Amino acid sequence: MARNLRGEKDSIVNLILLGPPGSGKGTQSKFIETSYNLKQVSTGELFRSAVNNKTELGAKVQKFMSNGSLVPDDLTLDIVLESMRAIQKSCSGFIFDGFPRTLPQAHGLHEKGINIKLVINFIIDESKVLERLSSRRICPTCKKEYNLKFNPPRTDEICDTCQGKLAIRHDDSPVIIKKRIEDYDMVTRKLITYYHNQKILCDIDAGLPIEEVRLEIKNILDPLRERCHPRIR
Ligand code: AMP
Repeated sequence: MARNLRGEKDSIVNLILLGPPGSGKGTQSKFIETSYNLKQVSTGELFRSAVNNKTELGAKVQKFMSNGSLVPDDLTLDIVLESMRAIQKSCSGFIFDGFPRTLPQAHGLHEKGINIKLVINFIIDESKVLERLSSRRICPTCKKEYNLKFNPPRTDEICDTCQGKLAIRHDDSPVIIKKRIEDYDMVTRKLITYYHNQKILCDIDAGLPIEEVRLEIKNILDPLRERCHPRIR
């Protein structure tokens, strides 16, 4: 049995959401968090928050994020481990959203003894990804995400939660989207084979509407909860 970050025997469930940018990993993470007492660790959100808060880490990662490049593996692993330490006591496991994105990151997780129960592979056509990313909006104040076509705010371009004016993420510009999709194809896709060989990869059709993808995920996670992990509530 693997050990957790405190060196204890680890009965927690960790999931990875794997898929290209815009495939809906963040949206589905929120649903999994609330339904299964797992905590989301989104490297993209952690990096954006470090940049916005002008931390030392933010200064180091800004140049990579601003042109859509991957942040170096050592910085990425460090921020993941730090975030896990901060939230570990309060949950039954983690949902890694947007992490790992490279084989060294996956190896790093393994070397730290962080056991992955399941990898959900979000399969979606590039044309749909482009359509989703170009209509994605974020609230600069509370960071809630919307999609003007598929998950619009109640009032045009205004955040439902805090009434902030919605904005386009800097890295959702066409040139940067292209770079992020290329990185996914050239680098991150290798993880599909890596986790397939470990027999923990599960494909879903992420091109379906949000509610249907949610149901696909529920159908995967509910049996897992009942059979193996009574701690997932
Ligand atoms: P995301 O919100 O997941 O699309 O991530 C936004 C940006 O953060 C990416 O374009 C990368 O610059 C950086 N990033 C997020 N996760 C990772 C990761 N696992 N490895 C390297 N860079 C990452």
